[in-house]
Amino acid sequence: MTETFTALQAYETNEKNFEQRIVQRELSELPKHEVLIKVEYSSLNFKDALSANGNKGVTKDFPHTPGIDAAGVVVSDSSEQFQVGDSVIVTGYDLGMNTPGGLAEYISVPAAWVIATPSGLSSREAMIYGTAGLTAALCVNKLLMAGAKPEDGDVAVTGATGGVGTMAIAMLSKLGFKVAAVTGKLEANETLTSLGASKVIDRNSLDELAAKPMAKPQWAHAVDTLGGDYLFTLVKSLHYGGSVAACGLASAANFKANVYPFIIRNVNLLGVDSVELPLKEKNKVWDLLAGDLKLPNLGSMAEEITLGQAPQLLNQIINGHALGRYLVKLG
Ligand code: NDP
Repeated sequence: MTETFTALQAYETNEKNFEQRIVQRELSELPKHEVLIKVEYSSLNFKDALSANGNKGVTKDFPHTPGIDAAGVVVSDSSEQFQVGDSVIVTGYDLGMNTPGGLAEYISVPAAWVIATPSGLSSREAMIYGTAGLTAALCVNKLLMAGAKPEDGDVAVTGATGGVGTMAIAMLSKLGFKVAAVTGKLEANETLTSLGASKVIDRNSLDELAAKPMAKPQWAHAVDTLGGDYLFTLVKSLHYGGSVAACGLASAANFKANVYPFIIRNVNLLGVDSVELPLKEKNKVWDLLAGDLKLPNLGSMAEEITLGQAPQLLNQIINGHALGRYLVKLG
């Protein structure tokens, strides 16, 4: 087995300057966890862009290899839970945060982070979903558990052209929901419609509602990836009894709120986390993604890139210019 491998490393060049380089690393530099995995595919997520650009809330020490997603084959496992050659997926926990991540040809992780790739899903397909697909499925599941039904009316999806947004649109549409895609990129109208959106809404049109205590009911339910005032705008624009699944902060972490929508319209604000979700629950969602929820056009739902192209795209993501999913082929 080769002792060196290729990885993306983010470097702090001075106090406020970060850059990414493709480097050769030694396997001996990886942490000594139970499972060594040869990564076949990874993907780019918003959190990877934060890590690669020095966000200390995500990654404390640099140089560092980002990559919260990885799919590949087991090289060795001291816990003996996996066989050499098993296809596996790792998403979330500390991968790519303060543990060297999936934007590299090898990762070393605790067995408690590793999922056997469900049958019906290749490593490539698993990483087209990645954390974005997993999170979108969790959001959709939360809405379903709160009683959402297609006949309730439109479901708004914010950050519509992003990874979670595109996946959520496709999944809701597959389940028969009418989706209103809320985006800052009206030029992506055709892409959003082809994913299954029945309406495309200018994100700026929500801004005028931010200062109002309540808004006219517009949507039955929503999936929110933006946070900030957009989140509360969705909450106060729901029909009676509606729900918002909140998973992101692409706009901001804080928002101003009041209790009116909750006590007058009976609405639900539902939190979604894919990172620390117990492995047993993650397994169930991956089974859904490989089975009943498998998207018909999954294979073509990402732009496949090389590791060398990742730095440029991570910068596009941090600047809000991402378009859908980016699949990174390793090796
Ligand atoms: P992407 O970068 O792929 O997409 C984010 C989208 O949000 C952009 O394409 C853009 O869409 C919109 N956007 C970006 N910046 C801004 C801004 N400043 N103001 C308003 N809109 C903006 O990110 P992901 O889809 O990977 O992640 C989305 C969010 O979900 C992130 O905050 C991420 O951290 C979070 N997340 C949370 C998870 C969890 O477990 N809770 C897991 C995965 C992600 P458009 O132009 O169409 O409006």
